[in-house]
Amino acid sequence: MKLAWQRQTIHSRHPFHIARGGASLEGDETQRVIVQVEHEGIVGLGEAAPSAYYNQSCESAEAALAQAAELLGDDPFGVAAVVDGLLERFPDQSAAVAAIDAALHDWIGRKLGVPVWKLLGLDPSLTPHTSYTIGLTEPENLPARLAQAEMFQSLKLKVGSEHDEATLRIVRQHAPRVGLRVDANGAWSAEEALGRIEALSRFGLELIEQPLAPGQFEALADLRRNNPVPIIADEDCVGVSDVVRLAGVVDGVNVKLAKCGGISEACAMIRVARRLGLKVMLGCMIETSLGISAAAQLASLVDYVDLDGHLLLADDPFKGLMLAEGVVRPADKPGLGISRRTLP
Ligand SMILES: [Mg+2]
Repeated sequence: MKLAWQRQTIHSRHPFHIARGGASLEGDETQRVIVQVEHEGIVGLGEAAPSAYYNQSCESAEAALAQAAELLGDDPFGVAAVVDGLLERFPDQSAAVAAIDAALHDWIGRKLGVPVWKLLGLDPSLTPHTSYTIGLTEPENLPARLAQAEMFQSLKLKVGSEHDEATLRIVRQHAPRVGLRVDANGAWSAEEALGRIEALSRFGLELIEQPLAPGQFEALADLRRNNPVPIIADEDCVGVSDVVRLAGVVDGVNVKLAKCGGISEACAMIRVARRLGLKVMLGCMIETSLGISAAAQLASLVDYVDLDGHLLLADDPFKGLMLAEGVVRPADKPGLGISRRTLP
């Protein structure tokens, strides 16, 4: 198997900000690493979306890829063992491992002529609608952002600024019936969180993501007992062992391929979460259609879908995902169903 990779610069439609540093894109430009595995004349593609928050960068991803090239063996169908080995060897480079995992799944699907969701035994017609994310912004920018979000049944609003209530008020005026999810990215202290959630919950919330900085399980459990809005852990939930520790602490977990290391690991997290009575959200970084397509293959398994990273881009270099009535679906095409877009 031959492994190759290249950088891809991407731009967001609007400057993107959240309540903490280390977002997968800050401002309006970033780079991704597009990974390619080639074997028997067939090419499979995957995308690494490293996050500084998880101590990852394009450089650290590429360093892991350079070493991983020796470890892939010569059978793409051995993806499960390959990915397990890579996660052991590079436990902090989950974005790079996820890219290899996606490329191997893409290769297998292309080789067999079937979509990855079919290989996994899933039915994409059951995919829930995605939320559409609006990053932290000045309230005067909201009407234009909301105009672009009209087709979506749920919005995810980044919170953790002094404008939170004004933001939710404006959103509710424009979209009285839209589902509202808020993501504090750990911005609130344990003391203030209950008050902040109460102030925002009068606008009607579907859920709140990561209200506290990670590692405060007792305070999270208290918060869950004392407020009516379901709490979803994101920064607190990276891999399978976190899912186990969060059972009984929160209402649900946000699974992301770039955090856990790809499709194989995400499937394990989703199944463990289900058995433990947790709701599951499937999220993403700001990624091209290639990265999002790997997650979209699994989206029919979860309760809440948040796969809008490619929709926030001004120059998505890939195409192939479908979007209808606010639902992002993978194509009925071999592998991940993605191809390069010819840019003007
Ligand atoms: Mg989040």
